[in-house]
Amino acid sequence: MNRVTTASHMLIGGELVTSEGGEWIDSIDPATEAVIGRVPAGNDRDVARAVEAADRSWEAWNGIGVAARAEALRAFGRKILDRAQELLEVEVRDTGNTIAPMRGDVRTGVDGLNYYAGLAYELKGDTIPATPGNLHFTVREPYGVVARIVPFNHPVMFATARTAAALMAGNSVVVKPPETSSLSALILSEIAREALPPGVFNIVTGTGVGAGAPLVRHPTVKRIAFIGSVETGMAIQRMAAESAVKHVTLELGGKNPLIAFPDVDPATVIDAAIAGMNFSWQGQSCGSTSRLLLHESIYDAVVAGLVERISKIRVGDPMDPASQMGAINSKGQYDKVLGHIAAAREDGARLLAGGGRPEGEGFRRGFWVQPTLFGDVEQSMRIAQQEVFGPVLSVMKWSTLDQAIAIANATDMGLTASIYANDIDDAFAAARRVRAGYIWINSVGPHYPAMPYGGMKNSGTGREEGIEEMLSYTEQKAYNLAMRK
Ligand code: NAD
Repeated sequence: MNRVTTASHMLIGGELVTSEGGEWIDSIDPATEAVIGRVPAGNDRDVARAVEAADRSWEAWNGIGVAARAEALRAFGRKILDRAQELLEVEVRDTGNTIAPMRGDVRTGVDGLNYYAGLAYELKGDTIPATPGNLHFTVREPYGVVARIVPFNHPVMFATARTAAALMAGNSVVVKPPETSSLSALILSEIAREALPPGVFNIVTGTGVGAGAPLVRHPTVKRIAFIGSVETGMAIQRMAAESAVKHVTLELGGKNPLIAFPDVDPATVIDAAIAGMNFSWQGQSCGSTSRLLLHESIYDAVVAGLVERISKIRVGDPMDPASQMGAINSKGQYDKVLGHIAAAREDGARLLAGGGRPEGEGFRRGFWVQPTLFGDVEQSMRIAQQEVFGPVLSVMKWSTLDQAIAIANATDMGLTASIYANDIDDAFAAARRVRAGYIWINSVGPHYPAMPYGGMKNSGTGREEGIEEMLSYTEQKAYNLAMRK
């Protein structure tokens, strides 16, 4: 084994531990298929210990008050930055995502901690004039134990930025990282142990079935925050409801449209289509605009330019700053992506670029797929309906706004949408009618600070990244004070 980190433990109740079951999961570098480490295969007993530790700790954590919690989160962030380079290198080797843009992930995680630390005093309630003469007011209280389940595309970012709100609201958390890319979580365990009181931040690595499901089912976990696929999200809702009444928020997949109007320069649309696909993490982004909806008048020009651009994307070693696309995260995901490409061909989509493994010495081993472009895609095809979560872009044609909207809305997901139009009335006419939770007009890709992110339809429930996320980790308690004089 060619270990890329010495970190090898989960964090439960302030202790660095292995699994009670003594089992491990190998971590595979998706670019080479080499084993680069291993993580404890947490089980239901590990989960129970983590939940108990969280349950024992949250009242004291809540009790120290918002200012002290904010200071602790900021200190946690500083300690993460001290080990940023190590986290970055491990994350790149473990995920297959390219190093240059991944530099932002650790920073975004720390920004999340600082942002919610700064919102500390917004954890406020209301006074309500329910009856004259009396005093009616609400306060916000934490749920207690929060479960945070993380997907494989940005493990360390999600484990930090997307636990900050729950911690700031006075909860203790149990994080379940993705089983194919958990090495950064082992480093995070060491950092959190130094920065936060025991039990406030726990990490249990393991599979979805072995560690994720017991966490979801645990009756003490009242609040579950999940980022992952629609299928798992639906399973989590079912499992949660079977064991107790729980608050579940879901950030799930997307089959997101980029709608380009005829008055936009084809060169601008080509740039946007490439940017929107997030090729630097192999298209493995929930927000990727994987359906390009082109007005018929610009279709040929944009497609011709895209074929050229996509074929030139530099696929290669994720650790090389010059690489523009790396390897698919795991063998399972690689097989899924190839399955979607085969289905698209079977359904009659026209393969315009890519479609298989790249050739050459560097690609003999590893989970490599070329950046792939399909044209003449029809809404009835599987490639137009199903999320690939890989480097596959489908191009579709429209002639009227009604048609464009019908295509944009014809999937059961609704996470993001991007609209390119010079006529602002066209842009808003489309934006109003697209059923998606996060809309870009004349841009694509960025998440903006404090803007609520989340999906409509099967893309999820709830919103993250803004103040709503922090408030969603609280319950309101209503006080009614009778005035006797
Ligand atoms: P996944 O659903 O397979 O797994 C996500 C997490 O859930 C992993 O930690 C996994 O171990 C765990 N899990 C799996 N089965 C479980 C079960 N039965 N009980 C509890 N936990 C279980 O998703 P993935 O393949 O890791 O990630 C890709 C998906 O995530 C895509 O659909 C993508 O669109 C979505 N995603 C959404 C967002 C968003 O913000 N909306 C962000 C990133 C990724």
